[in-house]
Amino acid sequence: MDLSGRVAIVTGSGRGIGRAIALKLAEDGATVVVNDIGSPEPIEGVAAEIRAMKRQSLAVLADVSSAPEVSKLVETTVSKYGQVDILVNNAGIVRDQLLVRMSEADWDRVIEVDLKSVFLCTAAVLRHMMKQRWGRIISITSVVGIAGNPGQANYASAKAGIIGFSRTVAKEVASRGITVNAIAPGFIDTEMTQRLDEKHRQEIVGRIPAGCLGTPRDVAETVAFLTSDEAKYITGQVLSVDGGLLGAWW
Ligand code: NAP
Repeated sequence: MDLSGRVAIVTGSGRGIGRAIALKLAEDGATVVVNDIGSPEPIEGVAAEIRAMKRQSLAVLADVSSAPEVSKLVETTVSKYGQVDILVNNAGIVRDQLLVRMSEADWDRVIEVDLKSVFLCTAAVLRHMMKQRWGRIISITSVVGIAGNPGQANYASAKAGIIGFSRTVAKEVASRGITVNAIAPGFIDTEMTQRLDEKHRQEIVGRIPAGCLGTPRDVAETVAFLTSDEAKYITGQVLSVDGGLLGAWW
């Protein structure tokens, strides 16, 4: 894909899927703003990898569940590069527990980080994209938001919310040259899934028709396609990247 001249923000891109997306968009020519919430080293590291590819990159620490911090992330991008063309809502957390034991705090934090952030970041970039009459918004949902999963009522609700949100906003902005889509990964090999114990991991692999976990790069390639000019007529869609898991699940 040729993304030269495009400016992208990828939330939660210090590691895992977000990092792979940031590197892939840069590889395809985009300027990439890298973000996460913890210490600066991971995002500075990803930004340095991007600059080594002779692309522009900036690392911005911001909690994407906080309106003032999202505003800082988007305004820093626009004041440095003059535009924002691509938003990838990737940041996410899990706080797993069966519903009868789930605390209100764990419910609230997952909804804030995984769903409210998508509202805040999308609203903040749309103002600029509507003036430009071009934009690509891609949010990372999950097969769990479609099929449900025991122990993940908070996460599944947030991820299902992203799907309704994306389908709605897609209709609101389609006439402005802006597409809004979601990608639903299955089980991808990152720190999030490395926390699973080996027995549970093997059970999951046994249910995936492709016979293995996906890689962050599998998701990144799909994001890159949806950000391209070639994907201009695809909007309001949820694309599964799951080795056939969802089809097998139903
Ligand atoms: P990960 O390895 O846990 O990385 C998550 C990233 O999000 C980290 O960089 C983290 O920053 C950042 N983050 C967390 N809270 C944030 C906040 N409030 N503000 C800004 N950044 C924040 O996760 P992953 O496996 O790459 O998953 C990425 C996305 O894909 C998530 O939305 C996840 O739900 C989704 N997904 C993953 C899988 C999978 O199998 N891995 C499957 C389906 C969907 P820190 O490092 O600073 O905490």
